[in-house]
Amino acid sequence: SMPARVGDLSLPKVVVSDLREVFRSGKPSILGPDLHLALTETLRRGEQAILFLNRRAYAGSLLCRECGYVPSCPNCSVTFTFHKGARRLRCHHCNAQEPAPDVCPKCGSHRFRPLGIGTEKVEEAVRETFPRAVVARVDRDVARRAGAVEAVFRKLREGEINVLVGTQMVAKGLDFPGVTLVGVVTADTGLCLPDFRSTERTFQLLTQVCGRSGRARQGMAVIQTFQPEHPAVEFAAAQDYEPFFEREIGERRDALYPPFTRLVNVLASSEDRRAAERLATEIADDLRRHVVRVLGPAPCPLERVKGRWRYHALVKLDPTDDVGVATVPESRLTHPNVRVTVDVDPVSLL
Ligand SMILES: [Zn+2]
Ligand SMILES: [Zn+2]
Repeated sequence: SMPARVGDLSLPKVVVSDLREVFRSGKPSILGPDLHLALTETLRRGEQAILFLNRRAYAGSLLCRECGYVPSCPNCSVTFTFHKGARRLRCHHCNAQEPAPDVCPKCGSHRFRPLGIGTEKVEEAVRETFPRAVVARVDRDVARRAGAVEAVFRKLREGEINVLVGTQMVAKGLDFPGVTLVGVVTADTGLCLPDFRSTERTFQLLTQVCGRSGRARQGMAVIQTFQPEHPAVEFAAAQDYEPFFEREIGERRDALYPPFTRLVNVLASSEDRRAAERLATEIADDLRRHVVRVLGPAPCPLERVKGRWRYHALVKLDPTDDVGVATVPESRLTHPNVRVTVDVDPVSLL
């Protein structure tokens, strides 16, 4: 069944733009040729565009600019995080570590490093390329000023802005009739997140973002990516929901993730890094006496939040198991300077 939209407008035409080719051409640019062309034509017609940048990867993984390869943990099927200082790759689920290769293990390219583009850089690139366009930006920094985001959205709706650059804040439920082009600057940032749901979330985000285009007339979306064959990108571009979810469920079954398991995330946090790590280790050892599949402890992908160091152990239960087997004894929960939280069916593992 085809997803229908109110008013029966056809879905936007989606173009997947291969950033590997842009890099191979020797003229790497934030706006690749497909997006550049689409933007030129949109502005010439006096219509509007939204350029979307997925949230920055919390801790970046390495990404090959030539073949799109992203290293991932063989045990957990989540991306490895790159630790620059020590030049190591680390899994934030099971704590597996290995030295970071200098070149891409798949194709030998030296262009093998973390992604790092922010909304400001995108805004700057648009201003440089289209000096007469009115460009605005919506991201976490802008959102700190009360009413600033609403003001930008109002200007966009009233046609005072030609190009809006934004993070996922622009993705949801907003109706801008003049917007006929949506550009996804890099689909890859979401795919590099160390969470088993990153594929599904990226798929949903891409379909949602592409849906911003052409609410009132025929629209177009350009998805720039280093991984054009990635299922999240391929199926989102085809706006093919059922095959995507069928494939995704197969992956979850193979890697033992929900709904084929129940997850319990035990998190220990403290201003004292060693204390948090020590308690997380003790809890993981306790749990291993009752439960077969306990991963970690490992530092959380968000290793430090508000001055507190965070370590977690991830328990995989059978769906029919009593969650009680993953109970943490009271004595561990009352540690003087380590806070322990037990999250059953966690929404996020970051
Ligand atoms: Zn490569
Ligand atoms: Zn792992």
